[in-house]
Amino acid sequence: MAVPDTGDSEELALRHAITEACRAMNALGINQGTSGNISVRWRDGLLITPSGMPYGDMKAADIVHLRMDGSYNHRLVPSSEWRFHRDIIGARPDVGAVVHAHPVYCTAFAICGLEIPAIHYMIAAAGGPTVRCGGYAPYGTPELSDIALAALRDRTCCLLANHGMIATGPDLGKAMWLAVELETLCRQYAVALQVGRPNVLPDDEIARTVERFRTYGPRRDSAP
Ligand code: 13P
Ligand code: ZN
Repeated sequence: MAVPDTGDSEELALRHAITEACRAMNALGINQGTSGNISVRWRDGLLITPSGMPYGDMKAADIVHLRMDGSYNHRLVPSSEWRFHRDIIGARPDVGAVVHAHPVYCTAFAICGLEIPAIHYMIAAAGGPTVRCGGYAPYGTPELSDIALAALRDRTCCLLANHGMIATGPDLGKAMWLAVELETLCRQYAVALQVGRPNVLPDDEIARTVERFRTYGPRRDSAP
């Protein structure tokens, strides 16, 4: 029996991390079925989920190594959204991983073509005072990739009209974290709109929070 080529141990670990993240997306309630796809920057291109495969069945060897020119050697075809994964990773040196999903609250705002304003300071995780909603284009098209790149300008995440969301990060863990935060933000906004009139934080407050986030995270107490 032919042994699938999964590369060296670092590549194999990334392949496992991608399959685990795919299953986690559905377990966390930020995706469903075979919707969504994940990629991670790898050497001369990216490692990306195959198209249309149920996440429960997905193995490390099913992850496709795609080069930046779109070519690959694999028995499975890469995600239909390989163009926006490739184009984001190609255009954005700050991005090491891309998570795309169809979470209910993100997608509800995207269905209405609405951007998310600064209704919570956590929007600073998006890199600015709004999460843009890019226009509609059919899934898997170069047009959708152009829309995604524009909506992600100076941002780490965006919505895609009548479709879903994209979250990026320097690595897969951070991109997954942001995907959950973005869905939470949209859920909070949806509930707040039912409760009353949401207050929007000013742009300069979000700019300060973006700066503070640069050093946020577990760190040693400098006191002895
Ligand atoms: P793939 O199964 O081809 O990755 O497509 C899912 C999707 O979300 C398309 O936008
Ligand atoms: Zn999609």
